Amino acid sequence: MSENEPTLRVSKIKDGTVIDHITGGHALDVAKILGIAERRASVITIAMNVPSKRLGHKDMVKIEGRFLAGSEVDKIALLAPNATINIVKGYKVVEKQRVKLPDAIKGIIKCDNPACISNSNEPVQTRFYVQKAQPLCLKCHYCGHIMEKEEILKQF
Ligand SMILES: [Zn+2]
Repeated sequence: MSENEPTLRVSKIKDGTVIDHITGGHALDVAKILGIAERRASVITIAMNVPSKRLGHKDMVKIEGRFLAGSEVDKIALLAPNATINIVKGYKVVEKQRVKLPDAIKGIIKCDNPACISNSNEPVQTRFYVQKAQPLCLKCHYCGHIMEKEEILKQF
């Protein structure tokens, strides 16, 4: 219970998703990735700077009545590689999933270099390698262009 105790600071949700262990200060980035600002159907609770044994301080995002698609989980991994996704049903956590930042990011983001082959008419899937996880820095497989967090966030 001790490790989970801080989660009690935020009211429980009945059904939905709790994204926990987001690195402190990144909750709003995660909210942006999920486009939840535009979705008025879900109640969102954002908690920032919650004390955490594992991270020192962490952020949390709770989304009521909504479960995430695999592609959304992949996007969260980009900006919150330590995050845990909890699926809540009937006020209970029925599933816990740790996000994982893959070595190669395929097809999620576009290269900012207009001359890159992935931006041509060739049927090429974008591919980036992780140069640095925090702050996020990716390198294009095709042209070597470096994409930083701000540029990546603009695409969500
Ligand atoms: Zn490129």
